[in-house]
Amino acid sequence: MSTVESATRYIFVTGGVTSSLGKGIISASLAKLLQARGYTATIQKLDPYINIDPGTLNPYEHGECYVTEDGAETDLDLGHYERFLNVPTSQANNVTTGRIYQSVIDKERRGDYLGETVQVIPHITDEIKHCIKLLGEDNKYDFVITEIGGTVGDIESLPYVEAIRQLRWELGNRCIVVHLTLVPYLAAAKELKTKPTQHSVKTMQEYGVQPDILVCRTEKPLNESIKNKIALFCNVSPAAVIESIDTDSIYRVPLLMREEKLDLQVLKKAQMSPNCTPELQTWEEFINRLQNPEKNVKIALVGKYVELMDAYKSIIESLIHAGTSNKCKVDLKMIHSEHIESGNIQNLFAGISGIIVAPGFGERGIEGKISAITYARTKKIPFLGICLGMQCATIEFARNVLSLNKAHSTEMLPGTPHPIIDIMEQQKKITLKGGTMRLGAYACNLKEGTKAFDIYGKLNISERHRHRYEFNNKYLELFETNGMIASGINPDTNLVEIMEIPDHPWFIGVQFHPEYKSTVANPHPLFVNFVKAAIEFNNGKTN
Ligand code: GLN
Repeated sequence: MSTVESATRYIFVTGGVTSSLGKGIISASLAKLLQARGYTATIQKLDPYINIDPGTLNPYEHGECYVTEDGAETDLDLGHYERFLNVPTSQANNVTTGRIYQSVIDKERRGDYLGETVQVIPHITDEIKHCIKLLGEDNKYDFVITEIGGTVGDIESLPYVEAIRQLRWELGNRCIVVHLTLVPYLAAAKELKTKPTQHSVKTMQEYGVQPDILVCRTEKPLNESIKNKIALFCNVSPAAVIESIDTDSIYRVPLLMREEKLDLQVLKKAQMSPNCTPELQTWEEFINRLQNPEKNVKIALVGKYVELMDAYKSIIESLIHAGTSNKCKVDLKMIHSEHIESGNIQNLFAGISGIIVAPGFGERGIEGKISAITYARTKKIPFLGICLGMQCATIEFARNVLSLNKAHSTEMLPGTPHPIIDIMEQQKKITLKGGTMRLGAYACNLKEGTKAFDIYGKLNISERHRHRYEFNNKYLELFETNGMIASGINPDTNLVEIMEIPDHPWFIGVQFHPEYKSTVANPHPLFVNFVKAAIEFNNGKTN
């Protein structure tokens, strides 16, 4: 390849008309298609809010907070990027307006701009451009895909669109703008409407950015005449009007985009010659298994944000990967931990073959989580506790097996006589809330002969964390002599990372978040094995 041919291309994905059009999935699907053609691609999300990162946002505001290997608390779209591409993201892949301003203000205080008035243009836009180009440094990637959060026309998105305009000017055809819009179907008129798309593109044009490709979200197929009309009004060729039709699974989107030739349009705009057809055989096999399950299994997810599917995005996706590995459809029942009482537990969990207790913070719903765990433990139902779920499992065991009635976590009950879960030593002096938890990948050593070791099939693993509290090692011996053992330990700090009950068909609590590492190409072994145990429970093999 010539140098121009091999220089990094920058693809911007913007959204118009409304939020929730699936920019993250389109970005991930495009990256997948480019990857399947042998190109390297990374995806970045720029979020126009003032929080430094989403770590301090509650799930009602922002869904799940996804954690990268290097400990960044990020937007949940990064989870999609990793699940699709099977390549880890990092701190540099998610930048917010807060982070941009913080960095500019730090520079101002250092005196880097002495004498100058610091302004949105050029200082904020320069910082945005710097964050974008950082990923393209040394031509490490053939493509850097930058998804701009929010909707074009929002006041807070303006500096980002302006940065795109400037980069376009600087980089010419190394920049491609993909704009997502909605083509709504009006039932009363029995017609698809293109006007919102026209208006949205007009807004982009007012800011000086002409989109190269339009991806139109729609519930009905776009016929040629609609595509031609959009093309005519929006200054793009009809082939650059891509239909993005509603589908039952996000994992089908790369295949739909291949049919619509989104990747070919991008290569054309980038003046790159298509090198081959995308190699998506394993992806297609995955979709095949996903769509033709041989069996069903019912799994309950106990948490306090059950009305909000985005809050547990990575867990839900991990269960889809694990179900597919087991040729099984996982029917997920979300159970609100605050609704669990001794009188209704039997009903709530009827027909359930596996129980997951979700991660979380704070006191609300804790007793319901603990009751769900008692149920799983005593009825021998496969159980997976994640982070707070693992902490609750140890509290439940302390109370009901070790008879330490008031056992608790000091997060919920600071004065508990039995602090089974306690704040980590390094966390005691921390007062700032943002970015100060135990975050990112840590090593864990597994004990031979345990279920965890069997599942992972190796002694040393690494998993991602996001918590402040830990299992209190003062109680470990008491736990182990009574039937709950630590099967995974951090080799550097001795922190307990995995607890399990050997005398139970499948009872594992993990202090880390396995859900952050499950991908289509690499379904997480803990989830795969958990679903397998649930299937066996369902078949009556284990009881
Ligand atoms: N609140 C608990 C802690 O900080 C668990 C966190 C979590 O589940 N992610 O330790």
